[in-house]
Amino acid sequence: MTDAAGDLRVYAEYDRDFSEEVDAVIVGSGPCGAVVAKELTDAGKRVVLLEEGPPFTPSEYELDGALSMARTMREGGLRATRGTVMPTMQAIALGGGSLVNSAICNRAPDFVLDRWCTDFELEHTTLSDLDPHYDAVGEFLGIAPTPENVQGERNLSFKRGCDALGYSSEPCLRNVRGCRGSGECFTGCRMRAKQSMDISYIPAALRGGARVLTSVRVEEVRADGHRVLGVSGRVVAPFTGRPSHRFRVNARAVVLAAGCMATPVILQKSGNLANRSGQVGENLQFHPGVAIMGVFPDPVHPEFGATQGYQSRHFLRDGFKLETLWAPPAVLAVRMPGSGDAFKRRLAQIPCAAIWDAIASCPRSLGRVRARRRGLDPNLTWHLHRDDVLILAQALWTLAEIFFAAGARSIIPGVHGIPDELHSRSEAEILRTHSLKASDILTGGNHAFCTTRMHGDPSRGVVDENGKCHDYENLWIADTGIFPRCPSVNPMWTGMALAHRLAQTLAERL
Ligand SMILES: Cc1cc2nc3c(=O)[nH]c(=O)nc-3n(C[C@H](O)[C@H](O)[C@H](O)COP(=O)(O)OP(=O)(O)OC[C@H]3O[C@@H](n4cnc5c(N)ncnc54)[C@H](O)[C@@H]3O)c2cc1C
Ligand code: SF4
Repeated sequence: MTDAAGDLRVYAEYDRDFSEEVDAVIVGSGPCGAVVAKELTDAGKRVVLLEEGPPFTPSEYELDGALSMARTMREGGLRATRGTVMPTMQAIALGGGSLVNSAICNRAPDFVLDRWCTDFELEHTTLSDLDPHYDAVGEFLGIAPTPENVQGERNLSFKRGCDALGYSSEPCLRNVRGCRGSGECFTGCRMRAKQSMDISYIPAALRGGARVLTSVRVEEVRADGHRVLGVSGRVVAPFTGRPSHRFRVNARAVVLAAGCMATPVILQKSGNLANRSGQVGENLQFHPGVAIMGVFPDPVHPEFGATQGYQSRHFLRDGFKLETLWAPPAVLAVRMPGSGDAFKRRLAQIPCAAIWDAIASCPRSLGRVRARRRGLDPNLTWHLHRDDVLILAQALWTLAEIFFAAGARSIIPGVHGIPDELHSRSEAEILRTHSLKASDILTGGNHAFCTTRMHGDPSRGVVDENGKCHDYENLWIADTGIFPRCPSVNPMWTGMALAHRLAQTLAERL
């Protein structure tokens, strides 16, 4: 729950159908929606923020990874793309993805934003245009490098390996205050150190007078001519989604921030709204991730250390970024090879293990989001392009060589067609000599974008670079769906910077 005394409603408090009348209604309380809510209330606007998920308090976090996913993630955390099958997680909770993410904050590189501007006819989305917005969010959330005392051996051994090979690396900047290095970001920060939206931007919006309604699912945006009128939907029970009372919010502006897999579905279910360009639900992109587990000769005590405390941006221009990682052992076990005694021996290695991952820029690997006939869960298709398989293979090899440079005894690469365990740098050479197919690599994609992309040309994009829909005077989109192309680094801070700019522009027009 939030620490603010404002007007936050939870499921048990709804006892009838209701309607609201506001300046702006914001759909979705993730990082992007939460920023818009605070900034608009600061500008004196009447705001209501609608969130389908419930709020969580530390006592409600589940350390058991599977149970946690069942409660905080859409489709129980088992959502996956078809075409190339890849798991992808989206949260359903007050605060959206910020509740379960690792709090890594990165500004998009200037060369990426320059390409956004050139290829998508944008005039003011360079790094220097966005820096004031990054700065505002960074200051509010206390975004800072992860200090050494909470890194732990799991993170520091990555730095040692990078140093040995001459690859640059740095502590991750994160939106935390007082992190104790518990490595539990994925199941929710019991220390309340992670500045997820439910304890940062949303309480600030409440203090500014916003109304925040949880357990409400927006099902439709209502429109008339070139203007939208507001949204309507149902109150839904936490965890089951069982619908009950109906609601309607009339607003002078609607801001969709439901996430890049939900916003296109809401538009499609609202009579294919805002889709004169034909781009709603198209261009789905991910940063597909691969991970390797390394086993060291001595205990690493991986349960201690910031969940993702170290990173390397050394290979961004080659198409990948490297990070350290931790997750509940039950989640890690899903990706461990073997069974019976062999599997037990692997589990026993966990105290000596570290996991490092790579996320790849794959703008050639495209997919789409389509509404299902019933409900608001999306059908997702996505195809990992052959050239992007090569990037992932290079990233796997690079992780392997860093592990051995850091002193690992063996690595478990999690790649079909090569041995389950590799014991030296020369054995790991197979990662670059073996010809990998997309289906050989176990990927996961929790960074998703581009399904309502911005474009200077209204016939080729859904929104302009401020997030306003080309087709409507007062319909805006704030989530990561508006990215024109993947940002090559963790997306949250960029999403929030763009949302900050959107809110300023919208506040002037309201
Ligand atoms: C496990 C994990 C780890 C990650 N780690 C990082 C990281 O360290 N750094 C980083 O930069 N990024 C990270 N990400 C990605 C990051 O969390 C997302 O990019 C970010 O949360 C996207 O913000 P958003 O506001 O666009 O959408 P979301 O955070 O998805 O928020 C959308 C919200 O809208 C709500 N909603 C959806 N449909 C409706 C509806 N119909 N009615 C009402 N409400 C609705 C959802 O319940 C949700 O709360 C991670 C993601 C995951 C899953
Ligand atoms: S590592 Fe632990 S203390 Fe630090 S932000 Fe994550 S959950 Fe909170």
